[in-house]
Amino acid sequence: MKRFLIHIFAMTLLASCTKGFTTDERKIIYGGDEEIMRVLSIANEQDSLTLRSTSKPLKRDMVSQDEFATLCRRMLTTVQNPENEGVGIAAPQVGILRRLVAVQRFDKEGHPFEFFLNPEIVEYEGPTQLGSEGCLSVPEISDDVERWQRIRLRYRDEAFAECEEVIEGFTAVIFQHEIDHLDGVLFIDYIK
Ligand code: ZN
Repeated sequence: MKRFLIHIFAMTLLASCTKGFTTDERKIIYGGDEEIMRVLSIANEQDSLTLRSTSKPLKRDMVSQDEFATLCRRMLTTVQNPENEGVGIAAPQVGILRRLVAVQRFDKEGHPFEFFLNPEIVEYEGPTQLGSEGCLSVPEISDDVERWQRIRLRYRDEAFAECEEVIEGFTAVIFQHEIDHLDGVLFIDYIK
């Protein structure tokens, strides 16, 4: 009996110490019948609550897990869906409240998509400029938003190494839009 209790205690301890994705997150990451994930929409009340939430940071242990690889792969397929194509996507848009974004690098040859973990903008540089924006989660609306021309970005790469980079132009605009998603902010909030 005593040994059994110790076993239970050890199992409980193990479960509470696991630094991975939660059961609910895993259900979404591995859920659905297709590779493309469902993109949350502000037109849906429940989705809207998620889109307006603040996302939690990713932890080092998570990036080596299959959940992380699967999530990145499926987010990429989702943002490249020809029926609803985007230039960036944030994890909360597929229902995962973690600080992860994929951005299409228009400032690099071939315009590849890259993933950024726990991204934060540590410096903004002007001038600001108006540009038209839309969002996969905000159907049928596009409007002008004022954004900074240049940003200094701090983030973790896919090996969880800390990186810093200065980004300019349209790619910098995408970063500002996607990082806003991690704090529940949408581009429509800036429209006057
Ligand atoms: Zn968006």
